[in-house]
Amino acid sequence: MRRLAVFLASSDGHDPAYAGLAAEVGADLARRGIGLVYGGGRTGLMGVLADAALKAGGEVIGVIPRSMIEREWAHEGVTELVVCDTMHERKAIMADRADAFAALPGGLGTLEEIFEVWSWRQLGFHAKPVGLLDVGGFWAPLLGALRGISATGFLAASTLDDLAVAPDLPGLLEALERRLGGAHRPAHGDGPAPR
Ligand code: AMP
Repeated sequence: MRRLAVFLASSDGHDPAYAGLAAEVGADLARRGIGLVYGGGRTGLMGVLADAALKAGGEVIGVIPRSMIEREWAHEGVTELVVCDTMHERKAIMADRADAFAALPGGLGTLEEIFEVWSWRQLGFHAKPVGLLDVGGFWAPLLGALRGISATGFLAASTLDDLAVAPDLPGLLEALERRLGGAHRPAHGDGPAPR
């Protein structure tokens, strides 16, 4: 994996441990020689992640819509800052520049972005793996909701299994790498996920 797109909070959250996690992830990606593709801002966990990756000598590509430059304080120190016109362009450029996608703790924007790339993978629009960094069980309530949806038959078990989930970065990178190069298309009649 050459580059990982990371979606995460543009705010800090209440617990400073999340900023610590973002910093560790940024530094670890740089040490492993994996380039970071992210939303290009300096606010919240996004800024912490990018600063840590840069400080450790990593490549950081930020992608930000012109209208968000002030709101998220575009990061001037990144390796490459791509300024685009719309949110749709931002996501398309991020998807194009990365080999895989991961979500760290975040809010609505993070959810929207990770769900979009996961649903695109299910539809076969790309074959890049998608995962959640489930630090401290942050995503457990969401995963519970997804298992509930799967039990109704609206989300294939194989699609839920296709989402890489791990409590730490090394585990998540392994899970993503296992899925690299393998497109996911749910089989017809694929059943619900086990509870
Ligand atoms: P949040 O998780 O809400 O803090 O947002 C994380 C990132 O997602 C920020 O860079 C937001 O600008 C971005 N974002 C929010 N909504 C969208 C959207 N609809 N499409 C693409 N990116 C978004």
